[in-house]
Amino acid sequence: MESIATNIEAIREEIYAACTEAGRNPAEVRLIAVSKTQPASLVREAFDTGQTVFGESYVQEFLEKHDDPLLEQLPVEWHFIGHLQSNKIRSIIGKVALIHGIDKLSTAEELSKRAVQQNLHVDYLLEVNTSGETSKYGMQPNEVLLSADLLSTLPNITLRGLMTIASPDRVRAQEEFRQLRTLLESLKHNAPDPSKLTELSMGMSGDFREAIHEGATMIRVGTAIFGWR
Ligand SMILES: *Cc1c(COP(=O)(O)O)cnc(C)c1O
Repeated sequence: MESIATNIEAIREEIYAACTEAGRNPAEVRLIAVSKTQPASLVREAFDTGQTVFGESYVQEFLEKHDDPLLEQLPVEWHFIGHLQSNKIRSIIGKVALIHGIDKLSTAEELSKRAVQQNLHVDYLLEVNTSGETSKYGMQPNEVLLSADLLSTLPNITLRGLMTIASPDRVRAQEEFRQLRTLLESLKHNAPDPSKLTELSMGMSGDFREAIHEGATMIRVGTAIFGWR
């Protein structure tokens, strides 16, 4: 196992190469280090190499890491990338910069209600099921378009873009990433404020190069940084 510093360095080089190939500016692609199941000490190790954005998937684990003495004083930017149940929303808002996996209108409504109660503003992404696999979370693409008007009326929350987890097959994954980008374009077309709809969270350790080619603005990489979970 290489060191975390070496892994991050290698990924940054790959991001750079994929951006060059795709004619994109590497500054448009943010690397989110997915630290779920990894101890605070390894998050700290990654932070010390200059990686400041981390993604967590499980509420309890996230809260423990968020408050860990090794990390709590640091300007870590936490993203919640897991499946979020409505009853857990209250405990994480205010502690995360972005929630990636809102997959139901009712969860967005609950998010808005809690944000109003706690007098906070929350940015979120909708998770889209682009692969059609029934085992996956996420809204259907047409459901996203149909919900857009209502979502834009919810106070204290702002939809910033879309997120997906693609099929394991890379060729299919690339098609799904393209589909997500097209969906974001359609959303922007009808949005009251399209300038807010900028984010495509797509691509993981096995497929972030394809995602960058299709316009990813955030890639969520765990295994390639921290090793196997
Ligand atoms: C675990 C996880 C990742 C990271 O996956 P790797 O294959 O380890 O890079 C990315 N996104 C989500 C939503 C995850 O749950």
